[in-house]
Amino acid sequence: MKNLCNICPRNCNADRENSVGFCKGTNKVKISKVMLHYYEEPPISGEDTNATKANGSGAIFFSNCTLKCCYCQNAEISAGGKGKEVDTKSLANLFKQLEEKGANNINLVTPTHYTHEIIEALEIYRPNIPIVWNTSGYEKPETIKLIKDYVDIYLTDFKYFDKELSKKYSLAENYPETCKSATLEMRKNQPEDIFENGLMKKGMIIRHLVLPTHSGDSIKIMDWINENLGNKTYVSLMSQYVPMARATEFEELNQKIKPLEYKRVVNHLIQLEFNNVFTQGFESAETIYTPDFNEETDDFDF
Ligand code: SF4
Repeated sequence: MKNLCNICPRNCNADRENSVGFCKGTNKVKISKVMLHYYEEPPISGEDTNATKANGSGAIFFSNCTLKCCYCQNAEISAGGKGKEVDTKSLANLFKQLEEKGANNINLVTPTHYTHEIIEALEIYRPNIPIVWNTSGYEKPETIKLIKDYVDIYLTDFKYFDKELSKKYSLAENYPETCKSATLEMRKNQPEDIFENGLMKKGMIIRHLVLPTHSGDSIKIMDWINENLGNKTYVSLMSQYVPMARATEFEELNQKIKPLEYKRVVNHLIQLEFNNVFTQGFESAETIYTPDFNEETDDFDF
C-alpha cells in the first residue's frame, strides 16, 4: 500500500514517490539554503549588543511550498523549486553542523511538506538547541499533533482572516479555518513561552504581514488572537511587504503599505493591551531582508 500525501490542508492524496502534488515536493527533501540568519525576531536570531554578537538562527530553507502567495519573496524556491535534494541522514547532519556553528536554534523554514522526513532526521540526530517550526500557518491540526514531541518553538504566520483574500492571493480558500485550528493546536503543544538570556527556548510567536489596503483584515486577526489566545501572546507585526512576483498583477498589492495602515494595526494592539509585540520600522520594506538564494552556501556541507 502506497503512502499517499495528505500532510497539509490541500489533501492532494499524491503519490510523491512517482509524482507530485500541489506543493511540487517529492519524497526527497529539497533544500535551497542553509545559513545563520540574523534577521528573525530578536528571541530567535539573538540581539547584537555591544557586549555580545548574536549567534543567529540556524535556518534551513526548504524548497517548494503548500501555498502560492502572489507576493512571495522567495518565489524562486517556493514556486520555482530551486534547491538541492538531500536524504534524511544529510538533513540530520545539517542540524549537527548548525549546532556546532553556535546557532541559537534549528529554524525549519517552510517545512510542512517534508514533515515525515524531518521527523526521521530528528530521530537520527536531535540537537541540543530548540527546534523552530517556521510555517505559513497553513497546517492541519493532525500534522501539528504529529510533531508535538519534536518542536520547541512555533514561529507561525496568520496571513488572512477573510477566505476571499486567501483564495485570491494564495490560492487557499480554506486557509483561515485551518490556520485557526492549527494555531490552537500549536498553543496546546507549547502552552508556555520560556526564555533564557533573551532567547526563546519554548513557545509560540505569531507573525502577521500587513498587506496594503487590507489593514482591516489584520485587525480581525488581532481580535481573534486576543479572544482565543489572550493578549500575552507574542505577536510579530511585519511592515516589510514589498510588491514582488505576481503581486504586481493586483493593483491594490502593487505598492508598499502606508505608515498609517501599519500604525492602525499597532494602535489596535495597544488598545487591546498586547505587550509582547515585535514591530518593524519602514526601512524593513526592502528586498535586502530577503536572503540571496543564488549565493553559494559554502559553510555547510549538504
Ligand atoms: S504536502 Fe504537497 S502533496 Fe502533500 S497534501 Fe500538501 S500540497 Fe499536496
